[in-house]
Amino acid sequence: MSNTSYNPYETAQAQFDKVAAQLDLDEATRELLRQPMREYHFSIPVRMDDGSVKVFRGYRIQHNDARGPAKGGIRFHPQETVDTIRALSMWMTWKCSVVDIPLGGGKGGVICDPRSLSEREQEQLCRGYVRQLARNVGPNTDVPAPDVMTNAKHMLWMLDEYETIYGGRYPGFITGKPVGMGGSLGRTEATGYGVIYVLREALKKMGIDIRNTTACFQGYGNVAQHAVKLYCQLGGKVIGISCWDDIDKTSYTFRKKDGIDCDVLCSITDTYGTINKEKAKELGYEILPGEAWIEQDVDILIPAALENQITAENVHKISSQVKIIVEAANGPTTTEADKVINDRGIFLVPDFLANAGGVTCSYFEQVQCNMNYYWEKDEVLSRLDTKMTSAFNSVYELSLTKKLNMRDAAYVIAINRVAQAVRSRGWV
Ligand code: NAD
Repeated sequence: MSNTSYNPYETAQAQFDKVAAQLDLDEATRELLRQPMREYHFSIPVRMDDGSVKVFRGYRIQHNDARGPAKGGIRFHPQETVDTIRALSMWMTWKCSVVDIPLGGGKGGVICDPRSLSEREQEQLCRGYVRQLARNVGPNTDVPAPDVMTNAKHMLWMLDEYETIYGGRYPGFITGKPVGMGGSLGRTEATGYGVIYVLREALKKMGIDIRNTTACFQGYGNVAQHAVKLYCQLGGKVIGISCWDDIDKTSYTFRKKDGIDCDVLCSITDTYGTINKEKAKELGYEILPGEAWIEQDVDILIPAALENQITAENVHKISSQVKIIVEAANGPTTTEADKVINDRGIFLVPDFLANAGGVTCSYFEQVQCNMNYYWEKDEVLSRLDTKMTSAFNSVYELSLTKKLNMRDAAYVIAINRVAQAVRSRGWV
């Protein structure tokens, strides 16, 4: 989902090239890792409720599977682009690697607006997606998951179609399934909680008590809602949240200077993460322009909506009070903005480390499916905390010893592990 002036794939490749040069990677490894290994582009015909047939474009891209089966979400979005999926598949490779789970990187998407599709049409789209792709995905090759505007219900339809095609039960084909149908407890919370586990660790390193901090979020979907919840439980105060309003076709920031109540806010938010403006006004929220989230006087900024949100145009609006940015969304910061943030000395936890909680819990889901034994929620979340904390600490230590920022340090660890796997397999 990119606009004409921003290409996330170019950002992903530029980030890779920068670290590949520092690592002195050989030419073949560099060539292999700076682009996806496989791409599938296909059409999905869907019979609509009115009897007509609409053809949707679908994609699945496998960036690298040297460390294990490709892994990554499927996004439904009207402005989806191939280059966005390429970039995201690449970031998935680094994400699985930086948290050291035995999976590679993949991503999928369909150009569609699920908000304008009925339940039946969405089911047909999910089944059609799997019919086009069944030969090229599977528990040992490429394991999809939910992402922007897809959820557990979509995953179960996809699983059912896959199992119908192959005539058996393959719960490891897809993750993010409903609990009781092969899903893991804690998966819904995992990405948002993971964001806060690394924020908590970062604040510890900076000697800041989380209970004295304030934050603003962009987005109030799956990731942000759970991140806000845990952050507030730990004593932090959220004063602003921005989200997209599909009726007005714009975004708004909902501000409450004395702190939001996340349960109340969730109760007036729809399943797509849109907060009801009228009800929010009644509850005393100030309704500001969508961009206002970035210019508030807070300690912490958490972009948790889309890519390309902190740019050269708005990075200068970030308040001097901001000490830390945790990238919950994938690719929210452009290369130019990243440089400004770095120069200003704002501590930034990069996306593929900060939001790795989701894929880590997906890995736990696969492990549980393979054992056919499911853990209690506390066990899942405590294992998640251990994995995220350990990954954060490894990146932080390297950033200190090698005098790198957190993004570059995370890249060094992730790329080194994948390059090692590629070499060990004899691919280069
Ligand atoms: P979601 O669809 O549940 O929520 C997205 C939120 O962003 C909604 O509140 C929406 O209103 C808001 N939004 C959209 N456009 C906006 C705009 N222009 N300005 C302000 N707000 C806007 O998605 P999600 O699952 O919460 O994912 C959010 C981000 O996190 C994405 O970048 C996704 O790729 C990434 N991510 C998600 C997971 C996961 O487990 N869901 C895992 C890793 C990374």
